[in-house]
Amino acid sequence: MGRRDDPQTDERLKFLLLCAVLALLTVAVILTAAVRLYLRRPSPAEVEAKLPSYVTRDLLDENEWSRPGEPLKRVNAIVLHYVGNPGTTAQANRNYFNSLADGALEIYASSHFIVGLEGEVLQCVPLTEIAYASNSRNGDTVSIEVCHPDETGEYGPAAYRRVAELTAWLCREFRLDPVRDVIRHYDVSGKPCPLYYVDHPDAWERLLADVAAELARQEETES
Ligand SMILES: [Zn+2]
Repeated sequence: MGRRDDPQTDERLKFLLLCAVLALLTVAVILTAAVRLYLRRPSPAEVEAKLPSYVTRDLLDENEWSRPGEPLKRVNAIVLHYVGNPGTTAQANRNYFNSLADGALEIYASSHFIVGLEGEVLQCVPLTEIAYASNSRNGDTVSIEVCHPDETGEYGPAAYRRVAELTAWLCREFRLDPVRDVIRHYDVSGKPCPLYYVDHPDAWERLLADVAAELARQEETES
């Protein structure tokens, strides 16, 4: 026979090739799983379990008007608001949301967090549940209402710093982008909220830049 190829060598080569393909497939599967795990957004329950110490839990009573108890399954964005009632405190706004429970006003409204004039933060709805704040985005966002000293709706210095801090923390925990995934109520429904940051797009850009800078600072401090 003129064939130089040894059938046994052929078999061995085939076997080695099969082994190589299997090894590559295994590596690919492991890498995909690792990347998925790395990119996975933590669940609202995981984030709820480690809220910063400056957040005071003062949850609303469960009721159909302001705390319906529907699960918030995933968080794709943070929505910023303004309370629209100059000079009112976080506590007063929280109590207003809670007072809607009797249905007398027939108003659906609430928020996960309210940042007060002094930078205090009240939590009204746990992150594991939806709040009634952002219309069509209630089902996949966290909402932050912010108190303000006057009619312009501009956040005061203490509230502004806290909004940047809390928003950056939420971005970090939920692996959100501080520019792309932080939006105004206005961006959802066209409502002029938060008023000052709708009237002044440059101030909104600055706020987003401050959130990004704060996020970088938090990542630096904790790494
Ligand atoms: Zn709003």
